[in-house]
Formats: sequence, structure tokens, C-alpha cells
Amino acid sequence: MTPIQALQKYFGYSEFRHQQAAIIQHVLDNKDVLALMPTGGGKSLCYQLPAVLLDGLTIVISPLIALMKDQVDALNVNGIPAAFLNSAQNPDEQSRLMGRLKNNEIKLLYLAPERLFGSENKLVEFLKSLPVALIAIDEAHCISHWGHDFRPEYLMLAGLKDYFPNIPVIALTATADKLTQKDILEKLNLKNPAIFISSFNRENITYTVSPKRDSFNQLLDFLEERKDESGIIYCLSRKSTESLAANLKEEGFSAEAYHAGLDNITKARNQEAFLRDDVKIIVATIAFGMGINKSNVRYVVHMDMPKNIEGYYQETGRAGRDGLASDAILFYSPGDAMKLKGFAMVDDNPEQSKIMLKKLDDMVRYCQLQTCRRQFLLKYFDEESPETCGSCDVCLTEFKRFDGTLIAQKALSAVYRLKERFGSTYVIDFLRGSKSEKIREEHKQLKTYGVGADISKPDWQRYLRELTTMGYLQVDGGEYPVLKLTTQSEAVLKGSQTVEFIESEIVEEKHSFANLPFETELLNELKSVRRDIAINENVPAYVIQSDATLMEIATYLPQSLDELRMISGFGDIKLARYGREFLAPVKSFCERKGLNSKIAQKKQKRERKAKPRGEKGNDSRKESLELYRSGKTIAEVAALRDLSPITIEGHLTYFIQTGEIDVSNFVSREKLIKIQDAVEGYGDEKLSPLKEILGDNYSYTEIKATISWMKGQMEAS
Ligand code: ADP
Ligand code: ZN
Repeated sequence: MTPIQALQKYFGYSEFRHQQAAIIQHVLDNKDVLALMPTGGGKSLCYQLPAVLLDGLTIVISPLIALMKDQVDALNVNGIPAAFLNSAQNPDEQSRLMGRLKNNEIKLLYLAPERLFGSENKLVEFLKSLPVALIAIDEAHCISHWGHDFRPEYLMLAGLKDYFPNIPVIALTATADKLTQKDILEKLNLKNPAIFISSFNRENITYTVSPKRDSFNQLLDFLEERKDESGIIYCLSRKSTESLAANLKEEGFSAEAYHAGLDNITKARNQEAFLRDDVKIIVATIAFGMGINKSNVRYVVHMDMPKNIEGYYQETGRAGRDGLASDAILFYSPGDAMKLKGFAMVDDNPEQSKIMLKKLDDMVRYCQLQTCRRQFLLKYFDEESPETCGSCDVCLTEFKRFDGTLIAQKALSAVYRLKERFGSTYVIDFLRGSKSEKIREEHKQLKTYGVGADISKPDWQRYLRELTTMGYLQVDGGEYPVLKLTTQSEAVLKGSQTVEFIESEIVEEKHSFANLPFETELLNELKSVRRDIAINENVPAYVIQSDATLMEIATYLPQSLDELRMISGFGDIKLARYGREFLAPVKSFCERKGLNSKIAQKKQKRERKAKPRGEKGNDSRKESLELYRSGKTIAEVAALRDLSPITIEGHLTYFIQTGEIDVSNFVSREKLIKIQDAVEGYGDEKLSPLKEILGDNYSYTEIKATISWMKGQMEAS
């Protein structure tokens, strides 16, 4: 069997991703390999597929015992005999497993490094007596001090090559800078290893950083539109995971906490419930997630700033493994960075402290970016990328800027005159010339007192925040933080450096969307079929089939097993085991609705591609216009063009302004008048306040359409 045949037969996929094909070929050729691939990139396949093709046993080393079960379940469901060994198994179970291993009944064995080499129950001697074909080391960066997740027990793996000198080793990781890479190769003693570094770009993830103000309410706003979706919320402290989970429950969300301090039973229960979609939200410390490959996680939220980009990228990477659009949102406050500084210091190890502090610094820079976040992340991993990605908050926001040098000078000189000893509230009151008794008499005599009276409090807050972000001010001190100048402040005060502020922002409405015009009703039926099967087999639902696969079925409506085979995710075993069960609801749905198979539209079994970037300008708009005129809905145009509905909406509203599309297609006459009223009263710079005033009955689309129409009217008159 060739690798590609095995891919189809056992995993139901028709193409390799990234460098999977080359990696697998190297492994089959008996060569050592280091593979770097982003989370969700498809690392597991790089050893699972060779394991199927090679004679003998593949040993998989993985750091967290608790999470091996999932991988093993998924393999077994695909008809690949796999097992794991952990200390929780009783002697009976263990000896039964040993028996199966001796009889060559198992293709993949998962275990933790301490089981292999640790003093208790050392397994390496026993395994050496078996025909071992391959050794895979997952999360290989755990072996390096330079990585962000060093695990001492991984160091035991240094002895691996002594025991298995001629067995190929494949080391895999989602995060490794140059230093860590070198360390992995050295510590594992790999022989002439081939190194594969895949693109780290996760196109289907939209990155957003929001200034943290009232984070719980900000979170609720975010979750509002995602009630039925699955997500992970990361907090820094154990306590806050519990309180946040409790608060979310009170708000009617389905949420549970997870952190290393919980007892094992609670941990296992909460994790299991999340994996099975019984609980939608898991609120966790970073202890949660490694090895979790739940594919339908639609969003990852960071309530606090992570300690480094590596961790952040790995955590956000847990969103959207199924390739569908997903969100990563981080609430940032400069105070978080201060807090983390303490954690970054490593006792008695100034060299490592320095590395950790540098990593923290990079994380802060990421949060404060005013350029494309994806570009920054990719650069961090030494990857080139375009200036703009079109799908991070910075790229999705249109900023209007203005020269704010004078404002900046007022603010900085106020801080200077107040001798850098006051917080932002005091500075703002002082600038605005507050008559309050809280302002000291001697300060009221200063020249700067009241020079900023023409600017509102909220605007001052924003300006001070931006000045901090730009590095012209810094916040110092713990309980009573004060504003201080920085080395960059002087240039502004002297007038040799100009400062620009953001005037207004038009934040595009963002919501997750389906790339395909699927039948919702059918999708729900398919999900309940999947649920039943999962309960029967006692595995999480996504182990049976991913959401993406069900959406494809609900789109292409396959009518036979042969047609179902064309759907990505159906290998031979799954087809044989569950094919009929999934076909039944499709057939009866099509009969009821008088629909036929659309499988012919899916010419070739292809992985769904993320939308292409940077398509701009007239031609692209025109193309959307023509499709729309041919009677397609926005969602259909979006799906056909592989662009987001928001982009299509943007294209179409442009033609409302030019008069080529009638506004009545988008908004009723009644609503148009109401929206027009609101726009005339409050201006059209900011959409979200308009939406707030108009209420839930009005969509962003309707508001945007009206604004375009009004602009068109203005131009005409
Ligand atoms: P990683 O370990 O790199 O984080 P996984 O190995 O868990 O990622 O793979 C992520 C998802 O992608 C899994 O659901 C897996 O089945 C799927 N996948 C892997 N390779 C392919 C492929 N060639 N075609 C389609 N899906 C794939
Ligand atoms: Zn971007």
C-alpha cells in the first residue's frame, strides 16, 4: 500500500497537508526527522501513517498521560490497533497489554517518558525485545531548557538511541525557536536528521487584542454571538478560572473550570464533558490543552496576557483545527505585563531569566501592535508574510489618524510637572482644570493646570492609553500605579517627534461563518446521529467525525456509500462502520425536501482552503456584484468566492453608494429612515454606538448599507 492509499483508507483524507508527504517518506526510509508544524497542522499523522505501513511497533512518547486516551480512541475508531500505558492501569490490564504487545497485535503504543526510563516499572528493556519500527516523540520541545515548557523527565530520552540505535526517531513540536531546535537534536542524539519546518500560518484564525477594561462584560459581549459554540478561556490563576466559570454559569453559559490544582476526578470529568460537547466552555489555566485535539473549538480567549509568544500561539492554535473560521481574542492590560515580570525570573539562573524576560517583552510588543498581528507572529517564527493579512483586528479595522503632537505634549508635560507621582485619573483631572478639592492647591498654580479642558475625560483616557502603548508614557507601581515618562518622551516634549492618534475606528462586524451553504436542519440531524454513535462507542463526538465533515455532508448531500466516500474524513473503516447511519438522515431529508445529491459539484475531494488574502480593488468587487445580480445571497457569493461574507458585504455596499445596487435590497424603507435619523444625530464614524442606539432589530449590514446610500445621496446632490 502506498502512503496516499493508506491516507485514504485509514484516515479518509485524499491529500497530504504541509510537508506530511515528505516527512512520512523520510520516516519510511529509516531516517531521523525533526518536524515543526503549527498546532492543528497534522503532526500526529506523520507517525501514525508510517506506523500503519511499517512492520512492527511504533512507540509514541507524549508528556501527558491523561490525554493519550483520546488519540488512542481516535486510532481505534479508524481501525488502527493502538493502546496506551499509564500508571492508573491495574496489574491485570497491564499484563494483558503486555501480552498483546508480544503477539504483535498493537501498532502504536503511547507512553510517558518516565514509564520508559523511570526507576519504577521501567519498560525499556521489555520494549527492546519487541520488533520496534519507529519511535515518535511528541511535544519534543519539552526536552529543552530554552523552550517554554521544559519537563525534566524528557531528559531521560537522551538514552533512547543507546537502546534503539537503528530505529528511526521522529521528534515533533509546534513551537521551537532556533536554540530549542538545536537542543532537541543534540539531546536526542538524532542521526543526520532531516528538519522540516512548515508554515506556521493558521489562516482560519482571526487574531484580536482588546484593551482590558471591564473584562467580564467584554467577555460576555464576545460570547453573546457564540452561545452554541465551543471555546477555551485561559486565565492566569487557578482561582480566577473557578470564579469565572461560576460567573459564566450564572449568566446561563455552559462552563467548567480546569486547573492543575483540581482533584483528578474533577479534572477528568470536566475535560471529558468538554471533549464530548456536553460543556461548551472550559475556563482553564495553561495546564489545559496540551494534546487535546478537539477539532471544533471555535474560539480561544486569553483573559490575561500569556508569558510568551510560543505559549500564546500554541494555545490559540487549539482553535479551528477543523479548518473552519475561528477566533483568538486576548484582553490586554499593561498591568498584566508588570505582574508577569515576577514570574519570568528563574531562581539562581540569570541567563534563563534574561531569555524569559525577553520573551515577555515580545509578548507585550505583540499586544501593543498597530500593524498586522499575523505578520508579527509569523516573523517571530522566522517566516515571511505579506504586510497585511486581512483577518486580524488591526487589518480589519480602518484607522483614521490625526496629528496629536500638541495633545501629547500637554499630557507629557502634565506628568512631568506632577513629578511623575500621580495616576491617570489625577493627571486627567489636572489637565481638565478640575475644581475638585482632590487637586492640590499648589498644582492649581502650575501653568499646565487646565490646558486640556477642551478634551473630554474618556478621550483623555484613550490618549493616555495610546501614549502608553506607543511608549511615550509608562505605568509604574502596583497598587497605586503612577504615570511616568520614558526615554522617548523628551523628543515629543521638544517637538522633534510628532505623535499621531487614532481618530475613529470602524470595526467590522465579525462573526464566525460557514464557508459552505449547508442545510442547517440536516446538519443538526447529523450531529445527533454522531452523538448517538459517540455515546455507543464511549468516545468524544469529534472522534467519530469532525464538524467540518458533517458540514460537507449537509452541503453535498451524498446519496450512496460511494458518494459518501468523496466527503473528506471518511476512510474505509469509518465508511463501513458508520456510513449507513450517516446516509439515512441525508436520504430522508432529500426526499422530504425534493433535493438531489450535489456531490458532482465537489469535483475532487479537496481540503477546504482558507480564504485567499489581499484580493482587493474593482475587479473583485465587480465579481461579487455580478454573482449577487445573478440571484445569489451574500452567503452563497461568499462561499463561491471563498471570501468572508463581511468582505462580500463590503463589496456590495460599495455599489449601493455608486447606485448600482438599490438600497432596498438590504434594508426596508422604514428602517432606512430610522437609521438615517440616527446617523444624522450621531455621525457615521462609529458603527457600534449606532448599533447600540438602534437596538437589536437592526443589523450591522443594514446600518452599513444605509450609510453607503446616504453617501451616494450626498455625492449626487
Ligand atoms: P497537531 O498534532 O499538529 O496539533 P493533529 O495531528 O491533531 O495536529 O491534526 C489536526 C487535525 O487535522 C486532525 O483532526 C487531523 O485528523 C486532521 N488532519 C491531519 N492531516 C490531514 C490531512 N492530510 N487532510 C485532512 N485532515 C488532516
Ligand atoms: Zn493582519
